[in-house]
Amino acid sequence: MPPSQDSPPPPERGLTAPQAVAAAIAGAELSAREISQIAGLPERQVYDALEHLARSARGRHEKLHVTPAACADCGFTFTKRDRLTKPSRCPVCHSTHIDPPRFRLGG
Ligand SMILES: [Zn+2]
Repeated sequence: MPPSQDSPPPPERGLTAPQAVAAAIAGAELSAREISQIAGLPERQVYDALEHLARSARGRHEKLHVTPAACADCGFTFTKRDRLTKPSRCPVCHSTHIDPPRFRLGG
Protein backbone atom coordinates (compact mmCIF):
# COMPACT_ATOMS: atom_id res chain seq x y z
CA MET A 1 0.00 0.00 0.00
CA PRO A 2 1.53 3.32 -1.07
CA PRO A 3 2.01 6.04 1.53
CA SER A 4 -1.21 7.98 1.75
CA GLN A 5 -1.18 11.73 1.73
CA ASP A 6 -4.07 11.97 4.11
CA SER A 7 -2.73 9.57 6.71
CA PRO A 8 -2.61 11.08 10.18
CA PRO A 9 0.66 12.72 11.14
CA PRO A 10 3.06 10.61 13.21
CA PRO A 11 2.95 11.06 16.98
CA GLU A 12 4.74 14.19 17.98
CA ARG A 13 8.39 13.55 18.55
CA GLY A 14 11.42 15.65 19.11
CA LEU A 15 9.87 17.97 21.67
CA THR A 16 12.31 20.57 22.88
CA ALA A 17 13.41 20.19 26.49
CA PRO A 18 11.21 23.11 27.68
CA GLN A 19 8.21 21.63 25.84
CA ALA A 20 8.76 18.22 27.41
CA VAL A 21 9.16 19.76 30.87
CA ALA A 22 6.12 22.01 30.41
CA ALA A 23 4.03 18.97 29.47
CA ALA A 24 5.20 17.13 32.58
CA ILE A 25 4.37 19.92 35.05
CA ALA A 26 1.17 21.26 33.49
CA GLY A 27 -1.13 20.82 36.46
CA ALA A 28 1.17 18.44 38.34
CA GLU A 29 3.64 19.46 41.00
CA LEU A 30 6.89 17.56 40.54
CA SER A 31 10.50 17.67 41.68
CA ALA A 32 13.28 18.01 39.11
CA ARG A 33 14.11 14.33 39.55
CA GLU A 34 10.52 13.31 38.80
CA ILE A 35 10.42 15.65 35.81
CA SER A 36 13.66 14.19 34.51
CA GLN A 37 12.18 10.69 34.62
CA ILE A 38 8.93 11.71 32.91
CA ALA A 39 10.51 13.91 30.27
CA GLY A 40 13.48 11.60 29.70
CA LEU A 41 15.99 14.38 30.26
CA PRO A 42 19.01 14.71 32.54
CA GLU A 43 18.30 16.84 35.59
CA ARG A 44 20.74 19.47 34.37
CA GLN A 45 18.58 19.98 31.27
CA VAL A 46 15.44 19.99 33.40
CA TYR A 47 16.79 22.96 35.38
CA ASP A 48 17.76 24.77 32.18
CA ALA A 49 14.27 24.18 30.84
CA LEU A 50 12.64 25.34 34.09
CA GLU A 51 14.58 28.60 33.98
CA HIS A 52 13.51 29.06 30.38
CA LEU A 53 9.87 28.36 31.33
CA ALA A 54 10.00 30.76 34.27
CA ARG A 55 10.91 33.55 31.85
CA SER A 56 8.68 32.56 28.94
CA ALA A 57 5.57 31.69 30.97
CA ARG A 58 4.84 35.36 31.67
CA GLY A 59 4.13 36.05 28.01
CA ARG A 60 1.57 33.24 27.96
CA HIS A 61 -0.24 34.40 31.12
CA GLU A 62 1.10 31.39 32.93
CA LYS A 63 3.43 31.12 35.85
CA LEU A 64 6.01 28.66 37.00
CA HIS A 65 4.94 27.94 40.58
CA VAL A 66 7.82 26.88 42.79
CA THR A 67 7.33 25.19 46.15
CA PRO A 68 10.60 25.96 47.88
CA ALA A 69 13.01 23.34 49.09
CA ALA A 70 12.77 22.55 52.80
CA CYS A 71 15.01 20.97 55.38
CA ALA A 72 13.70 17.52 56.25
CA ASP A 73 15.23 17.71 59.73
CA CYS A 74 14.28 21.14 61.09
CA GLY A 75 11.67 22.31 58.60
CA PHE A 76 13.57 25.39 57.43
CA THR A 77 12.26 26.49 54.02
CA PHE A 78 14.47 28.07 51.39
CA THR A 79 11.97 30.78 50.48
CA LYS A 80 14.49 33.45 49.57
CA ARG A 81 16.38 31.24 47.20
CA ASP A 82 16.57 32.54 43.63
CA ARG A 83 18.10 29.51 42.04
CA LEU A 84 15.89 26.59 41.14
CA THR A 85 18.34 23.86 42.01
CA LYS A 86 18.16 21.94 45.26
CA PRO A 87 20.29 23.41 48.06
CA SER A 88 22.89 21.01 49.41
CA ARG A 89 22.78 21.93 53.09
CA CYS A 90 20.48 23.55 55.62
CA PRO A 91 21.92 26.85 56.89
CA VAL A 92 20.19 26.40 60.26
CA CYS A 93 20.94 22.83 61.33
CA HIS A 94 23.47 21.93 58.60
CA SER A 95 21.51 18.84 57.66
CA THR A 96 21.91 17.52 54.13
CA HIS A 97 18.43 15.96 54.21
CA ILE A 98 16.73 18.50 51.97
CA ASP A 99 13.34 18.01 50.37
CA PRO A 100 13.83 19.29 46.81
CA PRO A 101 11.86 22.18 45.37
CA ARG A 102 8.78 21.26 43.35
CA PHE A 103 7.51 22.87 40.19
CA ARG A 104 4.13 23.33 38.54
CA LEU A 105 3.09 25.30 35.50
CA GLY A 106 -0.26 27.02 35.74
CA GLY A 107 -2.21 30.25 35.43
ZN1 LIG B 1 17.62 22.19 58.99
